[in-house]
Amino acid sequence: MSKILFVTSEAHPLIKTGGLADVSGSLPAALKSLNHAVRLILPAYPQAKEKAGPLKCIATIRLPGSQEEIKILEGRLPGSRVFVWLVDYPPAFAREGNPYLGPDGHDWPDNPERFALFCRIVNEIAMGRVGLNWRPDIVHCSDWQTGLVPALLSLEAERPATVFTIHNLAYQGMFPAEVFFRLGLPPQLWHFEGLEFHNHLSFIKGGLAYADKLTTVSPTYAREIQSAEFGYGLDGLLRHRAADLHGILNGIDLDEWNPATDPHIEWHYNAKRFSAKQHNKGVLQAEFGLPESGDLLLGSVGRLVEQKGVDLILDIIDQLAELPVQLALLGSGEAHFEAALQDAAARHADKFSVKLGYSERLAHRVEAGADAFLMPSRFEPCGLNQLYSLRYGTPPIVHAVGGLADTVVDATAEAIKQKTATGFCFYYASGDALLRTIGHALALYAQTPKWRSVARTGMAQVFDWRSSARKYLALYKETVKRP
Ligand code: ADP
Repeated sequence: MSKILFVTSEAHPLIKTGGLADVSGSLPAALKSLNHAVRLILPAYPQAKEKAGPLKCIATIRLPGSQEEIKILEGRLPGSRVFVWLVDYPPAFAREGNPYLGPDGHDWPDNPERFALFCRIVNEIAMGRVGLNWRPDIVHCSDWQTGLVPALLSLEAERPATVFTIHNLAYQGMFPAEVFFRLGLPPQLWHFEGLEFHNHLSFIKGGLAYADKLTTVSPTYAREIQSAEFGYGLDGLLRHRAADLHGILNGIDLDEWNPATDPHIEWHYNAKRFSAKQHNKGVLQAEFGLPESGDLLLGSVGRLVEQKGVDLILDIIDQLAELPVQLALLGSGEAHFEAALQDAAARHADKFSVKLGYSERLAHRVEAGADAFLMPSRFEPCGLNQLYSLRYGTPPIVHAVGGLADTVVDATAEAIKQKTATGFCFYYASGDALLRTIGHALALYAQTPKWRSVARTGMAQVFDWRSSARKYLALYKETVKRP
């Protein structure tokens, strides 16, 4: 049995902005179900405190410079037996809403202080210095907010092993050099093979340079980030660490995302009772104010940022409106994308409808009601929505990068014949390529038996957390054995 401290800045259902929360809410529970001792640690945001309760204070810590005592509150991850530890320091974390952004949509100006404090506390806990009768063998961190943990631990004697997972290399936690000195970080970490990156402080480099092992969330993304195109200047470091860098695909919560039992959808179905899915389409069309028609209904859910290829959709929207296609899109993100999408929806009200905002319930209903799912990401570390789509018999239309390339099999004539096809891929991020691929989907949609066969093959794919958890465990084992 290993003792694992799982360090994250968000975890579903306590608090979520994206895929990191899905992983942090599922992987610890899967590790626990394989009989390992796991503690999930994150900042005590108000929403997290509410949902992880009842809470009890199990330790108090004072850090030099902190205004008040920091409490460690213990609760549970809802729906699991995993203990959650919340780092309670109200001056940093008692803020409603998005964990990283203020009400004006900009980063909180004290983000480096907030997450440096979080990392320092994790370091103390990992070293067994706060009076808890528990010391981890493995400290597993994710993304820039936790990047200082492996760096700080590298300076400790008899430290636990460290693993750092890259969920998205685009977010690095970069700050001007003076922030490093303001935070009072150990000076020996300030060099180009350490936390310094082009005269900036890079939180993520703390993970990339100092963790014993690195992982990312798909094998293809693990290769891509070692190239200049996807590496954001960190590709050299990642190539240097290639022997320690592994791609492990995310799983999905098979109970939460199950069209046979999903409480968010009107009509339950499975691969055998596939025709019931059709009723959800009518419900979704009504909900999005689209006419009930036999057009191919495309669904899309996600953050409205450049990564997700929103501009590709916008590029072709007028041409799309000429085809027997509808589009129901749910998302929130950058204001200019939101405005452009609303504008396009106003121009093509009978073909295209957009709902701005974040809704777990509606996300489920889009997956169930759409015929196909649109995911033209420019890059995609793993992607979860295409996995939900496969499970819901809603073949994904994807740009074949990162996890999308690893999980979707293009419906070529050969793959259809072999019954391995699960969706539609394009290989160059352009509006034309996307439009051609939607054309391909449309042609297949007209051939109901073939369409259903592709959808059913997708439904038979299993991306479960237990398989991923076993891969992480194998890696932990290797890491603990390090000299
Ligand atoms: P990323 O982490 O880059 O945002 P992923 O596909 O890995 O992308 O995960 C996104 C997660 O967030 C999925 O669970 C998706 O359903 C959810 N999500 C994103 N935007 C919304 C939204 N507007 N409403 C509901 N769920 C959303």
